[in-house]
Amino acid sequence: MRNYEKVSKNVLDILDTTIRDNASDLDPNITKAKIISLFVLVKKCDFSGKMEKTSGVWKYLSDFNYVLLLHKDTWVELSEHQKNALVFHELMHIRSKEDKDKNVHWGVKKHDIELFICVVKKFGSWSPQLKVLESLMGDTEEEEIDVEEIDEEDAEEKKKEEDECVVY
Ligand SMILES: [Zn+2]
Repeated sequence: MRNYEKVSKNVLDILDTTIRDNASDLDPNITKAKIISLFVLVKKCDFSGKMEKTSGVWKYLSDFNYVLLLHKDTWVELSEHQKNALVFHELMHIRSKEDKDKNVHWGVKKHDIELFICVVKKFGSWSPQLKVLESLMGDTEEEEIDVEEIDEEDAEEKKKEEDECVVY
């Protein structure tokens, strides 16, 4: 059984549009990055999307700088808004440095914020990064969400969080 396949045209279109429309947020060399996108076909996957830098023998054999992996079963369930956000997120991981001879060296940029929801639940916006996030939350374009659906999901999420949130 194959575990990967080439992505649909829809993904390539979103990649092109996202790179074109977000030049000021993305790495200045992003248009030089050679990225191949693949759907991950396995049923269970611990990520929706992942930007991996090629290295070693894979870099030598393929000449790609990055592989964008998207879990297909998750991808097809996402709204357009979510697909755009996920692709933008993954592209933000691309980071380059130029040496004195103008050769580009590729890397992977880390997230601005990593968090545990249960800590935020107990301490709120306790770090400078979370304060920035809090101030941004009101300003972003959000999808209209069915309130009833949220209530049910919230209850389920809370139950899960309570199970998972252990304080030592
Ligand atoms: Zn990420």
